[in-house]
Amino acid sequence: MSNETIQAVKGMNDILPDEAELWLWFEEEVRDWLHSYGYRNIRMPLVEPTALFKRAIGEVTDIVEKEMYSFEDALNGDHLTLRPEGTASCVRAALQHNLLYNAPQRLYYSGQMFRHERPQKGRYRQFHQVGVEALGFAGPDIDAEQILMCARLWEKLGIRDVALQLNTLGDAAARQRHRDKLIAYFTQHQELLDADATRRLHSNPLRILDSKNPAMQELIAVAPKLMDELEDDALQHFEAVQAILKSHDVVFEINPRLVRGLDYYNRTVFEWVTTRLGAQGTICAGGRFDGLIEQIGGKPAPATGFAMGVERLLALLQDDGMVLPKPALDVYVVHQGESASRLASHVAEQLRDGGLRVLLHCGGGSFKSQMKKADASGAAVAVVIGDDEAQANEASVKPMQGGEQVRVSVQHLTATVNRLIK
Ligand code: ATP
Ligand code: MG
Repeated sequence: MSNETIQAVKGMNDILPDEAELWLWFEEEVRDWLHSYGYRNIRMPLVEPTALFKRAIGEVTDIVEKEMYSFEDALNGDHLTLRPEGTASCVRAALQHNLLYNAPQRLYYSGQMFRHERPQKGRYRQFHQVGVEALGFAGPDIDAEQILMCARLWEKLGIRDVALQLNTLGDAAARQRHRDKLIAYFTQHQELLDADATRRLHSNPLRILDSKNPAMQELIAVAPKLMDELEDDALQHFEAVQAILKSHDVVFEINPRLVRGLDYYNRTVFEWVTTRLGAQGTICAGGRFDGLIEQIGGKPAPATGFAMGVERLLALLQDDGMVLPKPALDVYVVHQGESASRLASHVAEQLRDGGLRVLLHCGGGSFKSQMKKADASGAAVAVVIGDDEAQANEASVKPMQGGEQVRVSVQHLTATVNRLIK
């Protein structure tokens, strides 16, 4: 048998207690924020049929081609995948349970996502997203509202230095025309394409525009523009979104090269980007996906949504020096002797009944060593029970920040502690 220690899977992080304080705070802030816009929580499985992601995200995307943790269920041969994102599952769940039958839905979820990428700062193999989806809404009002929501969250969390990039991908017909022109253009310059682009030339030429290869930037810069193909409807939609944002003084930049890595988007797409996280600068991304519901097998219905990368958001906050204190403890219960220890455990439960945060000393030791631990625990008071106290059904209360120790009956203990810690 080997005694080597076993480490976590590469790119999958433990979140230790000190850091978890920040996560807990963040989750609470985010929940309040989502509820203030009327969004409701939905929770989907971490594992889905592989076919769901192939169909929703698209076969010729980074995620489906090379980032998915897919496996065959050893017991029944099912093809399964650890979810790489939440939109596909959310739409699947809404359809499976007829949520869209009567009314549109504002939904949110949060949790782990899995992508087999090269781990680096801000890019992990298990990471967390908060995802927000509005299913069944067609108008530009909801696109704009979702962007305003984000702006409000950054404000609420104290996140500065994020910029909004906006684009429109138009509708299917315009995309088809643009696609044909792109294929013709890139075919003309085939000798300048890298391997990825050559592979995508006919399967997904739009994604060539998203290439980060510096050698191709010049070629991409003068490629045919989707903007030139847009129909009036899509243009008006885009202009309406911009008008609402401007009326709220939300600053944005139109980035015609913003195409997003997933196939299901149309019309409005956006990203919130910071320069403070190196290459992993996108903290939040989303847009409209009017075709997805039908693609997954539902009656056609419009939809729009976005997802935030929690690790990247928290990295920004930590970069600002944000650290949260651990939750304060009210009472540390010190006890010695058999009957004292019996009473101490009941006293601790009684204090918790009264709403107090109580740490009952475990593991024995002298009064002196227990008091040292009480001191280090940060508790406001120590409740001390020896045989003497136990016999009288009493306890001593010692304020840890100085002040007189008092001895009271167990019956009056909760009230006494409450008075002392105020
Ligand atoms: P990128 O271009 O950085 O790979 P993406 O377009 O693949 O991002 P989305 O699928 O839009 O990302 O996911 C939404 C957000 O989730 C991203 O903006 C980012 O903040 C976060 N995210 C995506 N992949 C990772 C990852 N591997 N590790 C940490 N966060 C991630
Ligand atoms: Mg990616």
